[in-house]
Amino acid sequence: MPLSRFGKRHERTFGKEKEEWDGDFRKPPKPESYWTNVKGQCRWCGLMILNDNDDTINTRRSWHEDCATEYMIIYHSKEQRAWVRRRDNGECNHCGNIGMRWDVDHIRPLWEQKGVVKEDLDWSYYSLDNLQTLCKKCHKKKTKDESAIRALKNKKKISKVNYKETKTWE
Ligand SMILES: [Zn+2]
Ligand SMILES: [Zn+2]
Repeated sequence: MPLSRFGKRHERTFGKEKEEWDGDFRKPPKPESYWTNVKGQCRWCGLMILNDNDDTINTRRSWHEDCATEYMIIYHSKEQRAWVRRRDNGECNHCGNIGMRWDVDHIRPLWEQKGVVKEDLDWSYYSLDNLQTLCKKCHKKKTKDESAIRALKNKKKISKVNYKETKTWE
């Protein structure tokens, strides 16, 4: 029996073993609904996908369009860059230069989510609203400015972890 295009995609999308989050704050954990095997359930928001005309469940789809976009912006850097380009047209958000080589930058840096447990992750860090176009020069400067703050925060985190560890021995 030949597999249709849909069938193939279906196979890829559904029935995957659930993977535990490896704690990489750059790629936040996928929601429970990502591993759903319910036809017509959005893998991102977990709601059912309805047909436009009669509100019945569209069992042929597994993503809302907006949900798919949101997902792609988080997990696929190429897609992320394409959305940022579409919005900013390559204009640096700091110096306003256009046509320079540019990077996608997280306005509030992602490393602020490092070590945060799954339940406490701030998803706004991963949205398009937290992304900006920076020319290479401005990006380099921002990264440098942030590294001092980062070092300080890491220090604080380490002392917090030590504190927790001592607590568990009580
Ligand atoms: Zn959805
Ligand atoms: Zn710039």
